[in-house]
Amino acid sequence: MAGLFSVVSRYTSGAFFVILVCGIFNLKGEREWCRIMGKFTHRVLLYYKYVPIEDPEIFAEEHLEFCKGLGLKGRILIGSEGINGTCSGTIEQTQKYMDAMHADERFSDMVFKVDEAEGHAFRKMHVRHRKEIVNLSLEEDVDPNELTGEYLEPAEFLEQMQRDDVVVLDARNDYEYDLGHFRGAIRPEVETFRDLPEWVRENREKFEGKKILAYCTGGIRCEKFTGWLKREGFEDVAHLHGGIVSYGKDPVAKGQLWDGQCYVFDNRIAVPVNQVEHVVVGRDHFDGTPCERYVNCANPECNKKILASEENELLYRRSCSDECREHPRNRYFLETGMTEAEWQEKVDELKAQQA
Ligand SMILES: [Zn+2]
Repeated sequence: MAGLFSVVSRYTSGAFFVILVCGIFNLKGEREWCRIMGKFTHRVLLYYKYVPIEDPEIFAEEHLEFCKGLGLKGRILIGSEGINGTCSGTIEQTQKYMDAMHADERFSDMVFKVDEAEGHAFRKMHVRHRKEIVNLSLEEDVDPNELTGEYLEPAEFLEQMQRDDVVVLDARNDYEYDLGHFRGAIRPEVETFRDLPEWVRENREKFEGKKILAYCTGGIRCEKFTGWLKREGFEDVAHLHGGIVSYGKDPVAKGQLWDGQCYVFDNRIAVPVNQVEHVVVGRDHFDGTPCERYVNCANPECNKKILASEENELLYRRSCSDECREHPRNRYFLETGMTEAEWQEKVDELKAQQA
């Protein structure tokens, strides 16, 4: 009996502890809980700097060895114009990396956006040399250290985006916008960043006479892009300093007026931004229902990112169109290891459940 009592009291005190902790930290989601329980053993870093790097090819080779030696995984681009990176590692590994970079005078003031994570966000470590650290391929390049838009801190961006004389322009790709964006932001019809300048030229009337507030994931794309906008003759151009990622962490902005989630180029794919409310804006490619789950079309020649529920992924064999579904190179059965008969069985099962 005494044993039973101690078990019960252990459970009740445990429950009390949970309620207490929830009360203190005003728990809203799993992430807070993970933080408290110490589940975040890793970090994901996002960073860039436009700064001259001599012999970028050699630097890239050495940097790869350095990162591998630390145990990091991720993707880093190095050019004579600077560095653009995202990588993951344990708290200790990422700390060593940031300390080492800050000890190099070229990167001493580089800002790292740090996300806590339960594990690595990448499978491999790549460091590659590129002419541009973000591919914009302008006929005449822009040096963002010489020409760029006005930097707005998150709180200023939040305040200005609510004014009538501004347009908020999403400087990312269409599939990134579709998962989440600032409320009322313009969605350019582009699949890659280098198509954005042409799209702006074709849609000039949308921006005429207004202040342009541009934003992107971590801020790097807006560096050259807002410089280019100014060179194109748009006079009042600003960009969100630190991008969406910093905006979501800012204690004043708290990610407000962001709807949906933020698309990220690592295994997490979607990360939360708005700390105050979560409005789902993503729509399932097949039935238009609210959805925040991205998959790639199973036809490798298409490989389009589509939002789809698990059920629709099965029903439509992860293929964006009939054409892709019937395409000879479609990899759906190959990747799932299912035969067509097994797939049909699962579909029948699902339909029976839904009926
Ligand atoms: Zn497709």
